[in-house]
Amino acid sequence: MFHRPQAVLFDAVGTLLAPEPSAALAYLSIGRRMGSLLKQSEAATRFREAFRRQEAIDRQVHGLRTNEARERQRWREIVAEVLFDVKDQEQAFAALWKHFAEPENWRVAPDGPLVWQELSRRGLTLGIASNFDRRLEPLCQAIEPLPQCRHVFTSSELGWRKPSPEFFAAIEDRLGLKGSELLLVGDDLENDYLAARACGWQAILIDPRGKTPVEMRISRLGELLSFLPVG
Ligand SMILES: [Mg+2]
Repeated sequence: MFHRPQAVLFDAVGTLLAPEPSAALAYLSIGRRMGSLLKQSEAATRFREAFRRQEAIDRQVHGLRTNEARERQRWREIVAEVLFDVKDQEQAFAALWKHFAEPENWRVAPDGPLVWQELSRRGLTLGIASNFDRRLEPLCQAIEPLPQCRHVFTSSELGWRKPSPEFFAAIEDRLGLKGSELLLVGDDLENDYLAARACGWQAILIDPRGKTPVEMRISRLGELLSFLPVG
């Protein structure tokens, strides 16, 4: 049963924002400038695997605790693993860190502006709840319609990553709301949907291919509007 929440929190990457060009292409083009001979398909596979490996390290080694230093370290290790044939690793890391801090390298989801305006018109508190670092807030400040967002919650600042219950508890605390009054919209089954529900939040999974058999799912952000009636 779905209850109208007080606040809607959105995951960032894959939900409201996407890198444009893709992460793999960004690694490839910066890597090539620095002498890498990597092929495009190889860059994509290596990125996926390196990302997954760091997610596992976050769980197994860090128990989902994080901070700004750990976030930088995870990306430094991903860069080293993807662009293994670049001599100056530190330069490659710095270039990619900067690349993903720049608003022109991100695009907002096609329905994002409409959904954001409409939900805020309906009186809901809106925010972002993301496994990200301190680059996210200035990014949001530069990408419409997110400059209006007063609640940008990132794992590096909260000290915990999704799917840890502490991440969700910290947001309840900051907003002064109970889990049952909160809705998380995200594209990751474990980190968003299942983790939020385990904390008593409502959750909706964005599942463009409609392949994940969960109760509450939408294929695009715009469908959210029919779940959240006026008043
Ligand atoms: Mg996501």
